Amino acid sequence: MADRCGFTITVPNAARDRIAGDMGLNLEDAEVIQDETELYTELYDDSANFAHALIMEEWAKDGISFFGHHGEGCEYGAGDFAAHGGKCIQVEASQGQGGPLVPINRDGTIPARALAEARTYWDTLAEAKRALGITEEAKPAAESTEGYRFWCPACKATDSIDVTATVFVRLMQYQGDPDHIETDADLAHDYSHEWDHSSPARCDACGYCGKVGDFDHAAKEVA
Ligand SMILES: [Zn+2]
Repeated sequence: MADRCGFTITVPNAARDRIAGDMGLNLEDAEVIQDETELYTELYDDSANFAHALIMEEWAKDGISFFGHHGEGCEYGAGDFAAHGGKCIQVEASQGQGGPLVPINRDGTIPARALAEARTYWDTLAEAKRALGITEEAKPAAESTEGYRFWCPACKATDSIDVTATVFVRLMQYQGDPDHIETDADLAHDYSHEWDHSSPARCDACGYCGKVGDFDHAAKEVA
């Protein structure tokens, strides 16, 4: 059985011959991109059977750091992968190398496990790149949380937290038209928005969903 896809992998030069051999690539005519530092090489395989998913685990177990992306096959979707420290993390990804995909629950939250896997992938990718001598462009400075009480536990945003609140709104109805019901927040003159630590909250910057208490760092230090 074969189920093939396009496959791009960046490997340390020390492991390049072994990996190319395992992939069945002939380095003489394979598509190879060599970096100037001669530390790592990008290999491309246009017919990777089952996206080399099993052999990849072997490379990782032998302590090789690498990362890459593969397209979709007949029975599997596109994926991103990164390996470092003996572990290989494989995640579903968008076809166009846009990073890991996670499902969204019916209530708009993200399954905790999928989010954790995506984060592990990003962390492993950063470690693999460091091990290969690839320096990332400087990340934008993390937002300072100093002087604030609430911030997103995932991305530390202090200005993008939305909380669900209970608020009185005026019920608007029309005589002779009982099915026509509207609500008006201004008419009710209720400027108090009731919410507490158990109110659902989300970060509009990164999509993190939780309870207000997850965003309240003063409460955590007290606890
Ligand atoms: Zn966030």
